[in-house]
Formats: sequence, structure tokens, C-alpha cells
Amino acid sequence: MSASMSDAPTCGGIDLGGTKIEATLFDATLTPIKTRRVATPQTEYADLLDALSGEIAWLRAEARQSDLPVGVGIPGLIDPVTGCSHTANLPAKGKPLGTDLMARNGGTIRLANDCKCFALSEATRGAGDGYRTVFGLILGTGLGGGVVVDGALLPGPNMLAGEVGHAALPAPLVAQHQLPLLPCGCGRKGCFETYLSGAGMTRLCQVLTGQSRTAPDLVAAAASGETAAGQVFAVWLQIAGELLHNLQLHLDPDCIVLGGGLSKIDGLDHAFSEALAQAALPALRAPVISKPEFGDSSGTRGAALLVRSAPDQGMTQ
Ligand SMILES: [Zn+2]
Repeated sequence: MSASMSDAPTCGGIDLGGTKIEATLFDATLTPIKTRRVATPQTEYADLLDALSGEIAWLRAEARQSDLPVGVGIPGLIDPVTGCSHTANLPAKGKPLGTDLMARNGGTIRLANDCKCFALSEATRGAGDGYRTVFGLILGTGLGGGVVVDGALLPGPNMLAGEVGHAALPAPLVAQHQLPLLPCGCGRKGCFETYLSGAGMTRLCQVLTGQSRTAPDLVAAAASGETAAGQVFAVWLQIAGELLHNLQLHLDPDCIVLGGGLSKIDGLDHAFSEALAQAALPALRAPVISKPEFGDSSGTRGAALLVRSAPDQGMTQ
């Protein structure tokens, strides 16, 4: 069987996570060809550079193309002017990760926030395909997002658009449920992330019931009809509805694609649509709210899209 042009590797995507680094080689149709995972170094920046360079070298060797373009999604923001990374959970804080990777490995290497990669992936022949304004909302260990308009990430001086996790909780709900304003990893208090992330659901349960339960435990108990768990989940959905209402006010997306661990909750897309309907202003067209098409592989796929076919898209370094 001979390989067609479309089977040839064209780009690589790397998803840099807190515990593992996943590298995937893609063909021209963005079909994954090969994937490799290595552990993420936890303490030294030099070790992180070594590990990422090793993945880039592996991708290029597998592709037999020494200048194969590679995109990298990272769990943090990248200053689009200085190229420095702002990452809470990696030994790269304040380091020019993109510049250092390019200097060491050559070729085209582009970095973007992993939530932006997710949004780009789902907007490109994924669950957001065919919609002009797509919001990718990640509900995982943190709460983040990305905005894609007409196929490209929404630009800005900080490449920040979509970082909704650090907007403040809605005052009416804080008052209604007497929610304490908890400190957030960003340095502020009372951010949406403190209650809407996976760990946030556990905190919400603690605040409302005094019990410490993990998000999967709570969701399973709510689904099986347990009253206390159901009440916590209902408040959690109410907070999510307010976040979606804010998204609609600020961006009016056609489509919101859910990602991250909590997006796997059965029926969450429908539950979010109902929660938004409760919170939204009257007589608005509702966005389509969807589960992801590519799920966990959107990280590498979105990173690959940073360097495929539209070189000006996203950000460099
Ligand atoms: Zn915050």
C-alpha cells in the first residue's frame, strides 16, 4: 500500500501538562499518526527544556523532517510581547520558553495557552465547526477558556481572551448561598474558578454541607438521587449558569464547547443549556452548548493547528 500525500506528516503538536508531556505527529488532514508521552520535570527549567526538546526531536525524527513545525500548548499564559511564560505549576515561570526552544531546536515552534489550543481544535472541524464565534470552556483542575472567531484565536495585547475563571463570582449567588470568598491561585479572592473547577466542586460541597467529597463522588451521588449531593450540584449549575450568562453578554458566542474532566459528566451540555436559560436575559438566541469532539486529544491537535496552514494564527514564542 503506497502512502498518499495526505498521509505524510505535516506538523507536530505537544501538550505540556503538569504531570506529562504528550507529543503527536499529524498528517495533512490532522489525523494523528503517532503519539508519545514523557513525564513533566517538576523542578528545574533546564530539565523542562530538555524534555520538550526531546519530544520535538522525536517528532522530527519520526516525520523524517528536521524542520517540522511544532506547536506547544502550555498550562499558563505567554506574554505575546516578551514571550515569557506565566505558569503556576511548571518550572518555567517568567522564562522565555518559546525563544529558548527555538534557539535550541530551530525551525518553527509556536506556543499558546492550552485552553486556547482546545478552543482552536474544537472550532476547526470539531464540535464548534461551522460556527463563527466559538468559546472553548475548560472545566478541569482549573477553569479557563479560549475564543475563536472566524477560525482564528481572538487576538489581544495579552492573548488573554477567555480567561473567565478569574472573573468574580456573581454577587446575587454569593449572597443567596452565603458563599465565602475563597482565595484563588491567581492572587485574588472569590473567582469563579474557586467553586466551578473540579476542586471547586469539592469546596462548594464543603461550604454547603460540611462534607468533603470529590467531584466524581458528588456527581455520581447526585445522579443516583441523593438529596444533599443533588442540592450541591444544583448550586454548582446555578454558578455555571451565571458564568455562561456573562459569556453571552461579553462575547455572544454561537457555540460553547465544554472540555476538561468535568465535561465528561453525563448530560452536562444539556444541564448547562438549562442553567443558561435560567440566568440569561429574555428573548436571546441561545448558543449551542456541546461536549467536545476530540476530548483529551484536543490539546495536541490544537497545538498542531498553531503551526498548520495559517502561520499568522495564534502567537509565537
Ligand atoms: Zn482567580
